[in-house]
Amino acid sequence: MTGTPLEAAGRARRDGPTLRYDVNRDELAEVLADEPRYRVDQVWDGIHEQGGELEDLTNLPKTLRARLGDLLPMGLTPETESVSDEGDTVKWLWRLHDGHTIETVLMHYDDRTTVCVSSQAGCAMGCGFCATGQSGFDRHLSVGEIVEQVIQARRTSAPRRVSNIVFMGMGEPFANYDRTWAAVERIHDALGIGARHITLSTVGVIPGIERLATEALPVNLAVSLHAANDDLRDELVPINRQYPLNHLVDACRRYIDAKNRRLSFEWALIDGVNDQAIDAEELAVICRQLRAHVNLIPLNPTPGYLTRGTSAAGVRSFRDHLEDLGVNVTIRRTRGTEIDAACGQLRASRQLVDPPRRR
Ligand code: SAH
Ligand code: SF4
Repeated sequence: MTGTPLEAAGRARRDGPTLRYDVNRDELAEVLADEPRYRVDQVWDGIHEQGGELEDLTNLPKTLRARLGDLLPMGLTPETESVSDEGDTVKWLWRLHDGHTIETVLMHYDDRTTVCVSSQAGCAMGCGFCATGQSGFDRHLSVGEIVEQVIQARRTSAPRRVSNIVFMGMGEPFANYDRTWAAVERIHDALGIGARHITLSTVGVIPGIERLATEALPVNLAVSLHAANDDLRDELVPINRQYPLNHLVDACRRYIDAKNRRLSFEWALIDGVNDQAIDAEELAVICRQLRAHVNLIPLNPTPGYLTRGTSAAGVRSFRDHLEDLGVNVTIRRTRGTEIDAACGQLRASRQLVDPPRRR
């Protein structure tokens, strides 16, 4: 893109094209420096409103639309689209400009519609029970690649409005903090999704938790705990060796004190591994200190991890035990298991080429 106005904006990426949703409003103004000033608002509002396709922006001259398409291309090409739960769950496998792939999941519930976005292609954290972790790290996503997942899912969701965003797709958001946070701000400011409807999920990357505590937007924080003693957590979540439990709990406490907000712990129940009475007791000690909420997810199957998820009865008794110990707990309903769209399954079926199916 040598010599384009984007270089003047100082933001052109060295590793690929500058994508439509990579630019902020000031950078868009640089791109449109030779157009009348009002065009900046027209284009900015146009590409962020529902629909948002250039050809729909009929208030712009055709030549400008074509130029924008060339200068600021879209970044996600649909490879497959899979539908389950009678149309209530849709998963996309997107191909990025450099051939890497990521996934996004759209979930309709009675009271909300949630998009689960990826923050990285792959993940370097190596949790053995997670399909993304099993296949390793490719690269960070750009701001535009994160925001565009919401834009694309919103098109399919219409007329149902996307109300919630969870960063629970592929990748560790706090390992890609700057771009993830810029995407959060854009999703909030330009797409109109309230901060309390945006949730960041981390495996426990302490510097990210500390930075989040300093941000103005009151988004939700979920910490994927899965074990409440270091021996087991070192095994399940290898990053625990770098950020052990007592440090993680301290960081969570500082976050709660700074933000005056509750946080939640994610706990994937693994048969015979972290679903025993002692596990509930250890978890309860931490939750009581932090007044944290627990989300239980029965472990979803992945190709590289043979231990099964806890049975439905086992999940209920773990919940009951936590409740008896005074912990606030919910069981998360599993979505999209048959299309490998459930928690931890993303990328599991990357090699399959199923034909795209439309609802
Ligand atoms: N890297 C971040 C966010 C993406 S993972 C994190 O780990 O929090 C999103 C959630 O899916 C996490 O809570 C993760 O622990 C959970 N998860 C991963 N593999 C899973 C599996 N096989 N079954 C159920 N949940 C899983
Ligand atoms: Fe990465 Fe989260 Fe999967 Fe762990 S659970 S490998 S941190 S995506």
